[in-house]
Amino acid sequence: MKALRLQAWKTRPELVDLPEPEPGPGQVVVAIGGAGACHSDVHLMDEFEEGTLPWNPPFTLGHENAGWVHAIGEGVTGLEVGQPVAVYGPWGCGTCSRCQLGIEIYCENLQEAPIPGGGGGLGLDGGMAEYMLVPHSRLLLPLPEGLEPRKAAPLTDAGLTPYHAIRRSLPKLTPEATAVVIGVGGLGHMAVQILRAMTGSRIIAVDTREAALKLAESHGADLTFLSGESTAEEIRAATGGRGADVVLDFVGVDATLAMGAAAARQMGDLTIVGIGGGTLPVSFFSVPYEVSIQTTYWGTRPELAEVLALAARGLIASQTTEYPLSRAIEAYEAVKAGEVEGRAVVIPDARM
Ligand SMILES: [Zn+2]
Ligand SMILES: [Zn+2]
Repeated sequence: MKALRLQAWKTRPELVDLPEPEPGPGQVVVAIGGAGACHSDVHLMDEFEEGTLPWNPPFTLGHENAGWVHAIGEGVTGLEVGQPVAVYGPWGCGTCSRCQLGIEIYCENLQEAPIPGGGGGLGLDGGMAEYMLVPHSRLLLPLPEGLEPRKAAPLTDAGLTPYHAIRRSLPKLTPEATAVVIGVGGLGHMAVQILRAMTGSRIIAVDTREAALKLAESHGADLTFLSGESTAEEIRAATGGRGADVVLDFVGVDATLAMGAAAARQMGDLTIVGIGGGTLPVSFFSVPYEVSIQTTYWGTRPELAEVLALAARGLIASQTTEYPLSRAIEAYEAVKAGEVEGRAVVIPDARM
């Protein structure tokens, strides 16, 4: 089968031929219906090197995946061949106290995980291929009626990651509150929709690209600002001087972190989701009083079920641009250039 593989750090991925995976005991092979091209993969290709992460190439890219159960290993129950499923991406040990609650992102027994701190497309083979091996059936969530794999795939990361970040701040997202979304890309455009679906808060979107602000508006942003020197002041002015109750930074560079801190309301949340590599100096007077600054990573298994349910009910939807697997390299080039509206999804050629 064809697969898009990262062969070594700091190289471009290559489309290669690989044998089809076969499920061992407890494992499942999924026929891929869609695999999202995530911006974090661009960091994987361009910046990371031996020692950055607990694992190394080669592996097949694609960590947001959905498809159909294709083959079931010995001892697997509760799944049927042909059943549409989403793949939960961060693979923990499955048994530690975090994993028991589905919080596999923060597994505390990583030596028992399929790969420490990774998953399919992150150290192990992912979904930019015709088939993908999933090491345990608990990592597959049946798709609710009416949700197609190609539409579900981006929800497993581009939907789940902002959902997890927003859920954490829900008590602050009252109808009189303001939420700011910085960076309206694959994750940010989902964040706007999730805020719209789950809260009555006012939504301000910030980006450097006009097209991204249009996308935010079409998904329910109340106000949009082109990112610049005075953006924090503009946000403050738009909130009667108070500032934003919750700032979600999907970029995470120095400038956006500084903007987020300057725009936050006292007692607000500043959540860093984007892995732009920036830093934010924190001292007694440098951020508004009692602002909580947090990072979040991906989301939990129960939260993925909630995201899929929101999508099946038509409350959120990933806007996608589809690429056949044979043109997956182009998909990543478009992601890197910031040219994709919403999410690029790679689909095996025979299923386009
Ligand atoms: Zn990702
Ligand atoms: Zn665990």
